[in-house]
Amino acid sequence: MNILLTGGAGYIGSHTAVALVEAGFRPIVLDNFSNSHPAVMERLARITGTTIPLERGDVLDTPWVESVLRQHRPVGVVHFAADKAVGESVAQPLKYFHHNIGGAVSLLRAMEATASEADMPAPTLVFSSSATVYGDPASVPITEDFPRSHTNPYGHTKLVVEDMLTALNAAQPNWRIATLRYFNPVGAHPSGLIGEDPADIPNNLMPYVAQVAIGRHEALSVFGDDYPTPDGTGVRDYIHVQDLAAGHVAALQTLLNKGKSFTVNLGTGRGHSVLEVVKAFERASGRPVPYRIAPRRPGDVAQCWADPTRAEALLGWKAQRTLDEMCADAWRWQQGNPNGYRP
Ligand code: NAD
Ligand code: UDP
Repeated sequence: MNILLTGGAGYIGSHTAVALVEAGFRPIVLDNFSNSHPAVMERLARITGTTIPLERGDVLDTPWVESVLRQHRPVGVVHFAADKAVGESVAQPLKYFHHNIGGAVSLLRAMEATASEADMPAPTLVFSSSATVYGDPASVPITEDFPRSHTNPYGHTKLVVEDMLTALNAAQPNWRIATLRYFNPVGAHPSGLIGEDPADIPNNLMPYVAQVAIGRHEALSVFGDDYPTPDGTGVRDYIHVQDLAAGHVAALQTLLNKGKSFTVNLGTGRGHSVLEVVKAFERASGRPVPYRIAPRRPGDVAQCWADPTRAEALLGWKAQRTLDEMCADAWRWQQGNPNGYRP
């Protein structure tokens, strides 16, 4: 039961690797470490008690990806590998179109080229999409049939890859494809051994708050307190990365057992404001999180949370963990690894 994880050394991929081992699968990590650190592999071995095979290279290298597929003959592929910094995507759109769309094309062509060979399992893919494909939603909660749009090149790449997968599946109905639209993944494995390791100053709220709590930054800038939300700050659907990892296992099992493609939201169905996150983090860490109100961040939406009904009905999956658990686990990781995976 080999499962190939492109980008498997990254934040969500590493947690999914653990969940797959626990569910009896054999994950194989394919990664070029462009946004992760090889030290994660040793951490994964400590958590799982098994060595997870690593294929180091670039998903854009189609002949090499073909050789990896031939070697491992995975019953499923989870495609995490992508660049994900929204601001950078605005500054360097071609990098994002090249890596994210080109990377998906390369992987799909490698899967297509090898699919008809002897002993190759039916092509089965899980794709990391995002709630960003809903743009500025007209209402909340968001169901999967809401109109899609994009507000930056990163989001555009997710939309294009989703469309590519729809076209591919129409042409080749034997492909089994799960499109997972993640809301806001946060938290870390409860061991404190793996977690989110932003290369630069974090753009996202939770890692920034964690770095304020540990004293790396003086204060959090809260981007806007005049949104039409209960306390005026932005509201998001934060989901524990462990719940998200379990969602991938459930998605793979559903694809393999039912043989049908689907698109689902992976969120909790609950929104929390920026100030609620700050308070929860203070409770979890016992440290103050000073903040100041700053102007709105361009492109931000007021509120965004999922209707997770379809995921529950289709996958039998439901997010379990609370905001307090998300903060407690993020804090354990932050405290134990103040420099992430770097020594
Ligand atoms: P991450 O950066 O931690 O992980 C991505 C991994 O892919 C990294 O290990 C990186 O080294 C690797 N990678 C990138 N380009 C590669 C290439 N060309 N070849 C081989 N490996 C490559 O990001 P993450 O947070 O784990 O996100 C995983 C996926 O989920 C991405 O597709 C991202 O767009 C999507 N997503 C993330 C979030 C989020 O908030 N974290 C939300 C929605 C969707
Ligand atoms: N946010 C903030 N300060 C920060 C980072 C984020 O106030 O330093 C707010 C942001 O405006 C949004 C929420 O926190 O309302 C979540 O932002 P994040 O970037 O984590 O997720 P996304 O906006 O992509 O959903």
